[in-house]
Amino acid sequence: MRIRCSIGTAKVLGLNKIRVDALPTTAYLMVGERCRYNCAFCAQARESGARADLLSRVSWPEFQGESFLRGLAHPGAQAVLQRICFQVVQDKVALEDTLEWVKAVKGKTNLPICVSAGPRTLEEVKELLELGVEHVSIALDAATPEIYAQNKDGSWTERFKLLSESAEKFPGHMATHLIVGLGESEEDMVRCLQTMYDKGITVALFAFTPIKGTRLEGVKQPIMSHYRRIQVAHDVIRTGLARADCFQFRDGQLTDFGISVDELQERRGGEPFLTSGCTGCNRPYYNETPGEELYNYPKALTTEEVEEAWANVRAARDKREGV
Ligand code: SF4
Repeated sequence: MRIRCSIGTAKVLGLNKIRVDALPTTAYLMVGERCRYNCAFCAQARESGARADLLSRVSWPEFQGESFLRGLAHPGAQAVLQRICFQVVQDKVALEDTLEWVKAVKGKTNLPICVSAGPRTLEEVKELLELGVEHVSIALDAATPEIYAQNKDGSWTERFKLLSESAEKFPGHMATHLIVGLGESEEDMVRCLQTMYDKGITVALFAFTPIKGTRLEGVKQPIMSHYRRIQVAHDVIRTGLARADCFQFRDGQLTDFGISVDELQERRGGEPFLTSGCTGCNRPYYNETPGEELYNYPKALTTEEVEEAWANVRAARDKREGV
């Protein structure tokens, strides 16, 4: 059997010799190809014209299963990796293939395993967890049902119901992905974040990234100040420093975190701007262009990067946009 690895993962596994700024601390693997769903932003969507080896802006070369498993077991890779994540593209056989891959990987390493997929039932979630998967991620992607309906097939409400029921039945084992920049307000995203953490669901924030060949290829990435404020809100909520009910908004934009920005900067430094999600997941350059300010930092920020990020938290969106 063959498997796709993100290009950075392949480097960690010794399967290529590319130069990278930051190594992934999670092995990202893709199972399946060309989804049965048609998300407007996804390179793997049913009607996407994007390259088949892309997910977000990362390329995912394919390798023989034996080479991949050999690379994974190598002490050099084990020294870097903290986790393994299967990104399951929703074709018919992908979930069954993933079960086989999870068994194969567990024979080579004790690293915690995540599966980011679209299971349809509690039974499917249970089956993955019983195999020893630590986290199952069911991506909501959109903060609201309306934004979901504009960008994805199916129903936000149904996914949310499965995610909530799974979180109740399997506490500490569920995660979700939310994409900033699909048209939601800061208030929409913050309310969604609070709901997720109230249910014990781990959230990974992504910045919308336009990919050539997708329906949203012409849409811009989110304004950095918008993304930074949502990152800070996320950090405040998940660490329990304050609840979203203590925040204030004006026209959907965050104006107050319930704690002053100066105090938050002092207490949290660069933490809010690191890649979020499962422990050890750093997704280098998943949404970012090298050389530009990063949405999600894959490693500790420098002092200058911390200052720049907090300056963006303070920046009024209207002033930056000149409207
Ligand atoms: S947060 Fe990272 S490791 Fe966890 S499911 Fe998402 S991509 Fe995978």
